[in-house]
Amino acid sequence: MKPLLPLDDALAAMLAAAPEPPGVEVLPLPALRHRVLAEDVCAALAVPPEDNSAMDGYALRVEDLGAGPLPVSQRIPAGSRPEPLRAGTAARIFTGAPVPPGANAVVMQENTQPADDAIVVTGAVCPGENIRLRGQDIVEGTVVLRRGQRLRAADLGLLASLGMNQASVYRPLRVALLCTGSELVAPGSGPLRSGQIYDSNRYMLAGLLEALGMQVWDPGIVPDSPAAVVAALEDAAVQADCVLASGGVSVGEEDHVRSQVEALGELLLWRLAIKPGKPLAFGRVCGKPFIGLPGNPTSSFVTFCLLARPFLQRCQGEEPRPLPALHARAAFCVERPGIRRDFRRVRIEIRDGEWWAVSVGNQSSGVLSVVSEADALVVVPEQATVEEGDWLEVRLLAPFG
Ligand code: AMP
Ligand code: MG
Repeated sequence: MKPLLPLDDALAAMLAAAPEPPGVEVLPLPALRHRVLAEDVCAALAVPPEDNSAMDGYALRVEDLGAGPLPVSQRIPAGSRPEPLRAGTAARIFTGAPVPPGANAVVMQENTQPADDAIVVTGAVCPGENIRLRGQDIVEGTVVLRRGQRLRAADLGLLASLGMNQASVYRPLRVALLCTGSELVAPGSGPLRSGQIYDSNRYMLAGLLEALGMQVWDPGIVPDSPAAVVAALEDAAVQADCVLASGGVSVGEEDHVRSQVEALGELLLWRLAIKPGKPLAFGRVCGKPFIGLPGNPTSSFVTFCLLARPFLQRCQGEEPRPLPALHARAAFCVERPGIRRDFRRVRIEIRDGEWWAVSVGNQSSGVLSVVSEADALVVVPEQATVEEGDWLEVRLLAPFG
């Protein structure tokens, strides 16, 4: 058998094989959150559009200070249009109101004292003080958001601040989700008979896909027979942009998925130097990309996070970014070095001001309860032993599910 493929090589090969993103649609602003931008967004105006006050106070000319009280010559609430400032006077002004032409500072009201219809300024004032300059947030003409970016809530605010009420985004990717295994039954379909288990991957993987804004096409459980697997793969390739399968990619005689992918298309890579997730397969069926995740629920989850997610993001037009990483101290030991990079499920905790990665329980790849409890994957490098307290890289799972 060929040597196991390093994770980084596998991911690079998969990303390079990603097809062009699906079509583009224009959506109204409230529908844009979590969608992937299909074009750069250029600011058609400056934000703020004119100089305005950062404080409730008085707009004035710094040169006019020092010669006694300044008469208050106008009142400028937010939303109003000011007159030019008369020399030797101050204008009452409120936060967000335009600074009157001629004024070069705003004194906060706490630094003034009223004197009839005038004010006395009590502290020193610098030119430009408390004035938010036109364009200090966004300069007209700059690119503020890039194609391939997933829009977050702050980005919607940014688009709105530019007066934009729509944007062009990629159509959601349609992903066929095939859960294979003759032992699987859908929850709700009655008690388990001997030999059966409930299909858990389907709900976990559908959740992970939906969190990426993808549409799931799900034909139900696919039994372990070559004919059923071929039919499901063919159908999936017609219905969806990408085919994601769980199970059936290992080495047993009942693992038909890999061989049927080869029959209908090609297998580009198989067997990775990672733990869990070694049997991951990637290829093409009937012209559509195919990812085969191992059936063990933890292996399915970890390989989805490390490989399927970035690949599918790229397919949907998004530039994938690595999971957020931090360094944490191991609250566990690894005595025997492994040949595969190990992604252990951990909780991260602060102890005495330092992050610690705490193993949450049984690290067997069939144990899903531990994934449910975990909030990160800690990376134990290949050939490494770990002593309690060693610093390791931790990948946060927060953006998932
Ligand atoms: P496989 O990759 O098909 O050899 O499956 C490996 C292990 O994962 C077996 O114990 C399967 O019963 C289990 N498994 C496969 N698919 C699922 C699923 N959808 N939900 C829960 N467990 C699964
Ligand atoms: Mg199976």
